[in-house]
Amino acid sequence: MTTIQANLQVVRNRIAAACAAAGRNPASVALLAVSKTFSAEAIRAAAAAGQVAFGESYSQEALPKLAGLADMPLEWHFIGPLQSNKTRPVAEHFAWVHSVERLKIIERLSAQRPAGLPPLNVCVQVNVSGEASKNGCTPAEAPALCHAVARLPNLRLRGLMAIPEQTEKSAQAGRQFAHLRELRDGLVAEGLTLDTLSMGMSHDLEAAIMAGATIVRVGTAIFGERIYLQ
Ligand SMILES: *Cc1c(COP(=O)(O)O)cnc(C)c1O
Repeated sequence: MTTIQANLQVVRNRIAAACAAAGRNPASVALLAVSKTFSAEAIRAAAAAGQVAFGESYSQEALPKLAGLADMPLEWHFIGPLQSNKTRPVAEHFAWVHSVERLKIIERLSAQRPAGLPPLNVCVQVNVSGEASKNGCTPAEAPALCHAVARLPNLRLRGLMAIPEQTEKSAQAGRQFAHLRELRDGLVAEGLTLDTLSMGMSHDLEAAIMAGATIVRVGTAIFGERIYLQ
């Protein structure tokens, strides 16, 4: 077994244990393997162990990898910051986008989604920590953006995504996860369909699952530490 395959098993066991602790069905939490900065070979190793959904953050880095892995039945999720001049490759090549935070981006993604592909699955990213450095719309902006996604023909509203503040205090992360869930519950009460809460990463997936995460986005715990070349 490769290190990646052993790591994947550890992460799956963590998810199963967190679901048991939360009284949740383990099938209700999907694992997104975040492969940014890692090679196509690393992705193949994870795929050989049964991993299907992969997350990438930078379209320039992702596109050659997607092309090199086109022979594999993988599901690609875009989770990085999205500028309006970079929407086309995402609309054309990905199944999901987790990081939508502005109306202009939403409109472009729908307009650029190729005919013949299923609708692009969309999560609206919400800045639940209020940190100025964080991406995402404000909680107050989320309802209008979700309604806009739900109205557009080539998009399918799936839910909300958040990256809480990196903190040693797990209670604080738990509150931010709970905030995203309450926001989702409020939108469902307004009549929107949102089946996804994309929250939880390598260091905090247990707290996210406790708060209702349906997709955890895990990179380091599967592939190892990322090295960014300047
Ligand atoms: C990189 C990244 C992750 C994975 O983080 P790890 O701590 O390596 O698990 C998850 N979500 C987003 C949005 C990311 O950019």
